[in-house]
Amino acid sequence: MKFRFLGVLIFVSFNLFSQTKKYTDSPKLVVGVVVDQMRFDYISRFYLQFGNDGFKRLINEGFECRNHHFNYMPTYTGPGHASIFTGTSPQNHGIIGNNWYDKFEDKVVYCASDADVKTLGTDSPSEKMSPKRILTMTLGDANRLHTQFKGKTIGVSIKNRGAILPAGHSANGAYWFRGKEEGQWISTNYYNEELPKWVKNFNNNKTVNNYLKQWNTLYPIESYLESGKDLNNYEIGFEGKETATFPYDLKSLKKKNSGYDILKYTPYGNSIVTDFVLEAIEKEGLGADDVTDVLTVSFSSTDYIGHNFGVNSVEIEDTYIRLDLELAKLLAYLDTKVGKGEYTLFLTADHGAVHVPQYLSDRKIPAYYFNQLTFDKGIKQYLKSVFKIEGLVKNISNQQVFLNYKLLEEEKISLNKVIKKLQFYISQQKYVQYVFTRGQLSQRSLNNATGQLVQNGFHQRLSGDIAYVLTPATITYPKKGSTHGSPQNYDTHVPMLFFGKGVNQGRTFKKTRVIDIVPTVCSLLGIASPNGTTGEVLDFIIK
Ligand code: ZN
Ligand code: ZN
Ligand code: ZN
Repeated sequence: MKFRFLGVLIFVSFNLFSQTKKYTDSPKLVVGVVVDQMRFDYISRFYLQFGNDGFKRLINEGFECRNHHFNYMPTYTGPGHASIFTGTSPQNHGIIGNNWYDKFEDKVVYCASDADVKTLGTDSPSEKMSPKRILTMTLGDANRLHTQFKGKTIGVSIKNRGAILPAGHSANGAYWFRGKEEGQWISTNYYNEELPKWVKNFNNNKTVNNYLKQWNTLYPIESYLESGKDLNNYEIGFEGKETATFPYDLKSLKKKNSGYDILKYTPYGNSIVTDFVLEAIEKEGLGADDVTDVLTVSFSSTDYIGHNFGVNSVEIEDTYIRLDLELAKLLAYLDTKVGKGEYTLFLTADHGAVHVPQYLSDRKIPAYYFNQLTFDKGIKQYLKSVFKIEGLVKNISNQQVFLNYKLLEEEKISLNKVIKKLQFYISQQKYVQYVFTRGQLSQRSLNNATGQLVQNGFHQRLSGDIAYVLTPATITYPKKGSTHGSPQNYDTHVPMLFFGKGVNQGRTFKKTRVIDIVPTVCSLLGIASPNGTTGEVLDFIIK
């Protein structure tokens, strides 16, 4: 009798146990891929040149958001990476630029700088970096908390901010590429006391030298029909080579172009990242067990090449044809290492880019160059003539004006009066589209659609007192090359591809926002979103 009772009990409890299904069937690994400066239309423009295993595989097997946008300005790399991985905009995560004027420290700071850490793999003091300036959690942080810190987070990019900001505060490691005479993968002691052995070995192997070769188009240049002519007036090119035309001999150009830094300006910068990422997956055991890990990968060479050669260049076309192959390589590796259908991957960009304005205006499309020095000088002269005092402006940067609070108080000048005068003055300057004041940007919600974007990028404590927006296709830049930073759609519209475990197959033209990525991934994982997240779950993407 006693035995029978025990038997029933064992049977019942075993049965209960075996019926306990996990709350979510989580992937072993989440890979977040960012392509630096990738416009949305690069997918359609180069689609026929892509193979079946890269972008096309992500699109055909996964979910594509075709109307995906950044919801703020400034559309720069630092804010972009921080917003993608925190699921919120600069008004909350505090990365309000790549560099910005810190009014409390009275100096310009860099988004990932941290004077208190020690560099690993380089002696350069300019590489002292950590994620300390992000004010909220990232996807990796949320996953670390949920898994009792068993799930790993690793961030990789050519750019330090492209590796550090996505990985977040509690990351196990963030690695970026040091060019110059070094050509090494580096980090700081924010993460570990020493570079892991596998990173040291990778550096010692000097595989980076294999990429100091000739950069020519992958296919015959006659087949590159989605760009302007290779020889044109809109490209910067390299020091030591007269024309910005193929082929580029990197070995001989290296010396005059900051040593290994030249690789960043070629598609081989992306190859170096892939090589390092595959090694990281293997040696860190990412996706090797059932506890979800997070890997962030940022391909930055696309940005350097866009700045150097412009949106419409053959160089950009070749870069994306080659990036497609890097993606295919990464996916094939994940298939064998982690397992087909065992990982979830998303791909987006940190901002788009503008067509070279000179190219546009040569074709009768309105586009302009904005003289920042003249504009800044005008503001200072105007304030001096109105208030009979110098030094009322502390800093003008990232399309914001920072006023000198201390001086205003000493001179008993009303802050609001200065702001009001300045708003009118700036609104009357050529190539200015909008001007917003601190007061307007601190209110609940502006009616103006562009105003909302400025507002989402405006941090009430850190930001300036006046923000202005330039007219479309107007930039402060040399007359060659492309750039970004505006709230215009060429800078906000980026690709968004979800792929792998838990992801539906399909596409949408409904407007989605970059801040929605993380809450969507967190829902797929069944974990709490990062603490600052303000995006929404795109439930149609989740299986
Ligand atoms: Zn960028
Ligand atoms: Zn060219
Ligand atoms: Zn850029």
